[in-house]
Amino acid sequence: MTSILVINTGGTIGMVADKQSGALRPFDFGNLYQLMPALANFDYSIDSHTFQPLIDSSNVTPSFWIELASVIESNYENYDGFVVLHGTDTMAYSASMLSYMLENLNKPVIFTGSQLPIGSVRSDGRDNFITAVEIAADRQFDTPVVPEVAIYFENKLLRGNRTNKFNAENFNAFLSGNYPPLAEVGVYIRYNHANILKPNFRALKVHYSLDTNVAVLKLFPGISENVVKSVLHIKSLKGLILETYGAGNAPTDAWFVDCLKSAVDHGITIYNVTQCKGGSVEMGKYETSVALEKIGIVGGYDITTESAVTKMMFLLGQGFSGDKLREMLQISLRGELTI
Ligand code: ASP
Repeated sequence: MTSILVINTGGTIGMVADKQSGALRPFDFGNLYQLMPALANFDYSIDSHTFQPLIDSSNVTPSFWIELASVIESNYENYDGFVVLHGTDTMAYSASMLSYMLENLNKPVIFTGSQLPIGSVRSDGRDNFITAVEIAADRQFDTPVVPEVAIYFENKLLRGNRTNKFNAENFNAFLSGNYPPLAEVGVYIRYNHANILKPNFRALKVHYSLDTNVAVLKLFPGISENVVKSVLHIKSLKGLILETYGAGNAPTDAWFVDCLKSAVDHGITIYNVTQCKGGSVEMGKYETSVALEKIGIVGGYDITTESAVTKMMFLLGQGFSGDKLREMLQISLRGELTI
């Protein structure tokens, strides 16, 4: 019988309103079958693991990712697939990070959550949850259909490290601007098999070492030298995600280019990621990115900021630096970018 482990980490899906303040807080919803009797209609065995404490995903930290990866690793041989219930706010970061940490993943790890708590009448949580379980369990020719980290939300299955949360209240909350859905769900679950990573049948290797000496700097017209310098002078900074305009463009002011050059010369790796939700960084296409390329800034192609930050923490954690780090940032490790 197909076996699924549901890992409940918190988020709106399992929240209740605090009686006094009315604010939503996570609670342990205990027996899954009591909560959703429909699960019993599946021909799967479903177990659950609950994080203590359950958290609002705004409180996600690297130690949370380490705990999540370790729960998956210690249960990997006993289950055919995993469903992670997670708050939507930082789900794209966690799904991205887990995709890097879980090397040679050959089983589904499907993140889901909801915009309305599962106990509320119009909750989107029930459908998200039930369909995520079905996707995690789906097999073809005795192999999992989706052997990768994905997010299932409102009828779409998206590659985890390609997503952003783009809407704070619509049920349709996630976007994958640069990669097509892995599946679309209506009456049937229609998998886009050609877009799904293929299993490699190697042993799972989990990487637990992460380095948080990273920062994100989002450009805006009027950004001052003081702001740019302050960020680049952060003690122990090793990697900077520079959110640029359009196809990777930035101001051509000498002070700006000089600040970045001096940081690169001091060993800080700068990763150029676009602020746009679709399209790719193409350094050298416009005059406004020629200098960035010349001073050794690394182009992130069409990677999302969420995926770029977690990839940087992951690669720094594995001890990569200098040219090797730059090379790894520019290749697709888990399908996170298109060259
Ligand atoms: N604040 C919640 C969280 O991310 C929002 C949600 O789950 O949708 O945990």
